[in-house]
Amino acid sequence: MAEAKNHDLVIIGAGPGGYVAAIRAAQLGFDVACIEAESELGGTCVRVGCIPSKALLEASELFYQAQNKLGEFGVGVKGVELDLGRMLDKKSEVVKANTQGVAFLFKKNKVTRYQGHGRITGKGRVLVESSDGSTELSAKHILIATGSKVAPLKGVELDGDRIGTSTEALSYPEVPGHLVVIGAGYIGLEMGSVWSRLGAKVTVLEYLDRILPGMDSEIANDARRLFKKQGMVFSLGARVTGARVEGDQVKVTVDGSDPITCDRVLLSVGRIPDTEGLGLDSVGIELDKRGRIPVDEHYSTRVDGIYAIGDVIEGPMLAHKASEEGVACVEHLATGYGHVNYDAIPGVVYTDPEIASVGATEDQLKEDGVPYAKGMFPFSANGRARALGHTDGRVKILAHKETDRILGVHIIGPRAGDLIAEIVAAIEFGASSEDIARTCHAHPTLSEAVHEAALAVAGHALHI
Ligand code: NAD
Repeated sequence: MAEAKNHDLVIIGAGPGGYVAAIRAAQLGFDVACIEAESELGGTCVRVGCIPSKALLEASELFYQAQNKLGEFGVGVKGVELDLGRMLDKKSEVVKANTQGVAFLFKKNKVTRYQGHGRITGKGRVLVESSDGSTELSAKHILIATGSKVAPLKGVELDGDRIGTSTEALSYPEVPGHLVVIGAGYIGLEMGSVWSRLGAKVTVLEYLDRILPGMDSEIANDARRLFKKQGMVFSLGARVTGARVEGDQVKVTVDGSDPITCDRVLLSVGRIPDTEGLGLDSVGIELDKRGRIPVDEHYSTRVDGIYAIGDVIEGPMLAHKASEEGVACVEHLATGYGHVNYDAIPGVVYTDPEIASVGATEDQLKEDGVPYAKGMFPFSANGRARALGHTDGRVKILAHKETDRILGVHIIGPRAGDLIAEIVAAIEFGASSEDIARTCHAHPTLSEAVHEAALAVAGHALHI
């Protein structure tokens, strides 16, 4: 075999963790290589996750609005038709622009790209294997950013067509008559919303007695009520025991209830770290009970020179969390400093209305016995939300009872995902709810609902 190609840093995986780390490391002067198994860069998020799902959420919402909402604004539209092929093409164009964007950024920052499967063969050594052969790389630092894959469910036989994951649900060739979604988390609710808006009957089977576990339960209850109003059917406490294709239908069996016959099934019960074939044994890295790679506060594994970030380590499986970790990891390598504030990582579900959250939930505060004050404000009392015709939802701010420091904020409503950014910055600065309350918010904007909720913490909201 030819002599190993040497780099300062070899990153395995070009998702939002790996590609962002690669760019930042290159900016800091490292000679960086990034190995990606897929022909396109960007990882699950860009190719078959965040980006295409948002493209379809946007498109399906436009269709829904044209059919159901525009008349309310005096905009008459007749003969609204769905061109699903065009909608899917548009989604692909959005994905392509993003994957090409990452490729451009790699070129600009002189990140060397290797296509193939990366396998660690020893300390400082990685083998890139592809159908064209293999290339050996050597590096002082190796960063694992291989992300996650779909968690399987016993009895549910994925066939890559009628019983599929979010990847299939991003490209159904027709609107399913009846779609059964297993799992009421991020993916189930986002993809369920897309197909419901396009005309499918959507039944969501959730094992727990609530949707969106981990999110604030009061806000999650609002969400379920609103999604129900939109036509989604929820079956809570449903333990799915199997799903099998029968002809061109699927039979889903649920413990203690009648089987459900449907056209397609989306399995979305979570994701698991993807460390398959990574060669961790060769260096003695052991996984924790949940299949994650244990790391210290600087993302170092127990092996010197090998680091891990994103979905393969502990914490929420979110693209922006992985990117933050990637930046912190390589900044620490270059400068000795690098830090992620885990109290300030927002989570957003891009349904309509959007649901956004940062910091502690009210449930957690109660459980931990933290004294808190709560301020809420409904979008129905916000002028801009009325003008937009999006008055569902509310802002909820939780602040420490004694210090007033913001502990958590949960928003369900129009553009919640954008509104939360103000709070994330506030938490980053260690702000109190009074800081938000004393900040001038432009009128008329949705952000005034955040302002009012902050005023409400001290009991003096103005517009309610
Ligand atoms: P999730 O963890 O968000 O939700 C899984 C749901 O499935 C939970 O409600 C869980 O209780 C339920 N469940 C588990 N086992 C079940 C069973 N046997 N039967 C019925 N229900 C069951 O997982 P997801 O929606 O698959 O998403 C995977 C990951 O991708 C998440 O960690 C999420 O952070 C990430 N993601 C994020 C976004 C976003 O940021 N907008 C979008 C999509 C995915």
